[in-house]
Amino acid sequence: MKRIGVLTSGGDAPGMNAAIRAVTRTAIYKGLDVIGFRRGYEGLLDGDVVPLTVSSVGGIIHRGGTILRTARSERFVKPEGVREGLQRLKEYDINALVVIGGDGSFRGAYDLHKLGYPVIGIPGTIDNDMAGTDCTIGFDTACNTALQCIQKLRDTASSHERLFLVEVMGRHAGFLALEAAVAAGAEYVLLPERPFDIEDLCKKLHYAHERGKSHTLIIVAEGVMTASELSSRLKDTGGYSARIVVLGHLQRGGSPSSFDAVLASRLGGGAIEALVRGEAGVMVGRNAGRVETHPLQYSWETRKDIDEDMMALVEMLGI
Ligand code: ATP
Repeated sequence: MKRIGVLTSGGDAPGMNAAIRAVTRTAIYKGLDVIGFRRGYEGLLDGDVVPLTVSSVGGIIHRGGTILRTARSERFVKPEGVREGLQRLKEYDINALVVIGGDGSFRGAYDLHKLGYPVIGIPGTIDNDMAGTDCTIGFDTACNTALQCIQKLRDTASSHERLFLVEVMGRHAGFLALEAAVAAGAEYVLLPERPFDIEDLCKKLHYAHERGKSHTLIIVAEGVMTASELSSRLKDTGGYSARIVVLGHLQRGGSPSSFDAVLASRLGGGAIEALVRGEAGVMVGRNAGRVETHPLQYSWETRKDIDEDMMALVEMLGI
């Protein structure tokens, strides 16, 4: 193996740059050349390449987003797109590809792997909805961003005796919503993984208002419904005046937290170490503090469930 390629794909996540830096520098340290593809699989198909060097990945560890940019590629989902991508990798004499992204991006990588091409995945998404790693790159930063926003809302909620319905990201998963709910001390959380009872929610609001609680925070994961849908379904707010806040893309940007910068550095380095060992068709993850590999398909075939203890905490602490 002489030359590797790297790309970021799907939604951007804080820490992707730290991962690009770690992949590049570890690979160069091991005697490999590194080529970056801009705009994910779109850039692979278009041959949108940029050589990555020790200095070109300098000054990026602390930056949000991705210097390689990212995209969702319709073309690459089709078998002919994958074959064309493989052709492009051969034209550039690239011997292995590192894909930084979510489970969709890993499915694309798996398609290349099935054609016999060496690929390795690094999990980067704020949703944390991938098995094979306790945390995906970007999740911790997104939780911290959501927390900072919710803490600000809390000040206003208390001062004006309001109910805030806060919609957080996560696509089809509730990890971000649950983490933010516990950290912010929310009274109620709605997750796509768990059924919820609107009557029960109304009762809780009444109870909170009757015992003089100055504010109430409800966190709703976007995978359940929008905050405005929830508001229209909540006929009775227990005496509180309700406000809706959608945190939206604020949660995707910003400098990575220490946790994410370290995680990205470890997984970036771990991906190259695995490739050099001869592993391919795998993802790197960090589980109970150790960097490990699993087959790529493990990330979407294995269900990563939300933590029941955390759900119970919201229930118990939000009384
Ligand atoms: P995030 O979770 O942050 O949105 P993601 O990687 O899951 O990230 P997707 O939009 O699902 O984001 O996937 C990114 C890209 O990966 C897609 O635009 C497509 O090019 C490719 N991809 C997704 N699914 C497949 C598939 N089944 N086969 C081939 N390529 C795929």
